[in-house]
Amino acid sequence: MLDDNDDWPVGCPRCGQRTLKRIAWLKANTQLSCDNCGATLWYHQDTFLRELDQAQRAIKDFSRTVRLKKQEL
Ligand SMILES: [Zn+2]
Repeated sequence: MLDDNDDWPVGCPRCGQRTLKRIAWLKANTQLSCDNCGATLWYHQDTFLRELDQAQRAIKDFSRTVRLKKQEL
């Protein structure tokens, strides 16, 4: 879940569109072009890694609250 082959949407501050990039790609770069308006976007690598870590935790935390329906136990 949210591993290197998954896509991560990056919102453009100019046009609001989201550009999908592979997580592996985002880990290796700090700059991308918006697919919609072509603006050059940049970000801090450490900020991306921190937010990725939080998103992975959120998925784990939510999964811990999911229960099986009785008839499937
Ligand atoms: Zn844009």
